Amino acid sequence: MQLIWFRNDLRVHDNTALTAALEQGPTIALFLLSPAQWQAHDDAPAKVDFRLRNLQALAAELQQLKVPLLIRTADHWASAPEVLAQLCGQFRIKQVHVNEEYGVDEAARDEAVARRLAEQGTGFRACLDQLLFRPGALLTRSGSYFKVFSQFRKACLQQLRLAPPRCLPRPQSQPALTIDSDPLPTSVAGYAFADESLRALWPVGEAVARQRLELFAEDHLHDYAERRDLPAEPGTSQLSPYLTTGVLSPRQCLHAALMSNQGEFDSGNVGVTTWVDELLWREFYKHILAGYPRVSRHRAFRPHTEAVPWRDAPDELMAWQQGRTGFPLIDAAMRQLLATGWMHNRLRMVVAMFLSKNLLIDWREGERYFMRRLIDGDLAANNGGWQWSASTGTDAVPWFRLFNPITQSQRFDPQGRFIKYWLPELRELDRRDIHDPSPFSRTMCDYPAPIIDLADSRARALAAFRNLPPAG
Ligand code: FAD
Repeated sequence: MQLIWFRNDLRVHDNTALTAALEQGPTIALFLLSPAQWQAHDDAPAKVDFRLRNLQALAAELQQLKVPLLIRTADHWASAPEVLAQLCGQFRIKQVHVNEEYGVDEAARDEAVARRLAEQGTGFRACLDQLLFRPGALLTRSGSYFKVFSQFRKACLQQLRLAPPRCLPRPQSQPALTIDSDPLPTSVAGYAFADESLRALWPVGEAVARQRLELFAEDHLHDYAERRDLPAEPGTSQLSPYLTTGVLSPRQCLHAALMSNQGEFDSGNVGVTTWVDELLWREFYKHILAGYPRVSRHRAFRPHTEAVPWRDAPDELMAWQQGRTGFPLIDAAMRQLLATGWMHNRLRMVVAMFLSKNLLIDWREGERYFMRRLIDGDLAANNGGWQWSASTGTDAVPWFRLFNPITQSQRFDPQGRFIKYWLPELRELDRRDIHDPSPFSRTMCDYPAPIIDLADSRARALAAFRNLPPAG
C-alpha cells in the first residue's frame, strides 16, 4: 500500500506526489491537522478556513479516484513522525509520497518523519511540485544561490525554453479499497471563523481555481502590464490563495500563460511576459528561503540592517493595522486586507514601506500582522515582500527610495475609486481632495489627521539607514 500525504497541494490534477503514489499501486491519502503548529506559524483564520474548505473539495475529488482520505492530528509537527509511523504500521504502507516544502520547520519535519519511517522499513519520497525548479538546481557560476532577481529570471527562462515542465493529467481511478474515509473537520481548535462574506469571495476547489485561471488568461492577461498596478481594476489574477494552498500548480499557471502567447516565454504579449515574471518572483523567494534558511527565522537577509533603530510605537502600529493613519490609500488598503484577507500587490508595497520607513517600525511586526490576516499568507513571498520594502532583503528597494503614499495614490488610484470603495466616509470628496483631504474635509468626514509628517518621517528613516554600520 502507498500513502500520499497532502499538505499545501490540495488538488488531484498535476499533483506529482499523488501521481507517483498511484503509479506504485493501491494508495490511501492522509491530511494532518496541526492547529498548534499553524498558530506558531501565524497562519490566519481565513487561510486555515480556506484550507479546510479546500480539503472538503479535495475529498470529493479523491472519492472519484477511490482514494480513501484519512485525517489525523499532529497538533505540533514534533509529533508527526509518531503519527505517521503508527498509521504506516496499521496500513502496511511501503512508501509515503509527499510534495516538497521549503521552510526550515517543514524541512526538519520531513527529515524527522523520513528517519522514523526508515526505522520500520517504510520509504519516504519527496517530489518537486510547488516550484518549477528544485532549490539548488539553478545556481550562479560560483555555485551559490542567486541573490539578484534579474539573473535568476534569466537562468529560469533559459531552462524553461529548453524544457518547459509539463502538467500531469488527472490520475485514473484505482480499484476500490475496503478502507473508509474519515469524517472531515469543518473547524479546528483555536481557529474560529464564520465570515461568510469573505468565504464568498474565495470559493474553493480546483475546478473553481482552474476556471479563474482560464478567465484571467482570456480576459485580463493581455492587459496585465498596464493594469496590474491599479488597485481599483481587476487587473491581477487573484490566484495567490489557490497557489499558496496548492489548489493550483505553478505549471498550470505557466501553461495558461504560454497558451495565450503562442508558446512564447519572453517575447510576444508584454502582459503575458510580465505575469510570467511574477510567477518567477514567487519561485525566487522560495529559492531564497531554501538557500538562506535564516530568513525563515525572522532574520534580516542583510545582517547589517539588524542595527536599524526600529521604533517602539504601539499606537502608530495599531493605527496602521486598523486603517486609521489619516493617509487614505494606506487606510483603504488595510481595510481591504481586514475585509477580504487579500491586498493588491502595489498596496502591499506601499503599506509595508510606510510601516518600515515612515513609521520606522520593525518590518517583522508588519510581516507577522500580514501572516495573521492574509488568506494567501506564504512565508517566502511575505518575508521577501517585507524585506524588499524595508530594504533589508536581497535585491530590495534601495534604502533611500521611499514611496510617498500621497503621490502613489494620485498615480495609481487617480479618481480615488479604490479609496472611496474602502473608505465610504470619503465618498463625497473630489479627486483633488481625496488623496490628502484638507483639515476641513477631514473634520466633515470624521476622518483622522495624518499620524505623522511625511517629510520629517522620511528624513528620520534616511538618517537611520545612512547611519548603519557598513554591510559586511
Ligand atoms: P498576480 O499579479 O496575478 O501574480 C500571479 C502570482 O504570482 C501570484 O498569485 C503569486 O503567487 C505570484 N506573485 C506575484 N507577485 C509576487 C511577488 N512580488 N512575490 C512573490 N510572488 C508573487 N504573495 C503571496 O502569495 N503571499 C504572501 O504572503 C505575500 N505577502 C506579500 C507581502 C508584501 C509586503 C509584498 C510587497 C508582497 C507580498 N506577496 C505575497 C506578493 C504579491 O503581493 C502577491 O502574490 C499578489 O498580490 C497576489 O495577487 P495575485 O494573485 O492577483 O497576483
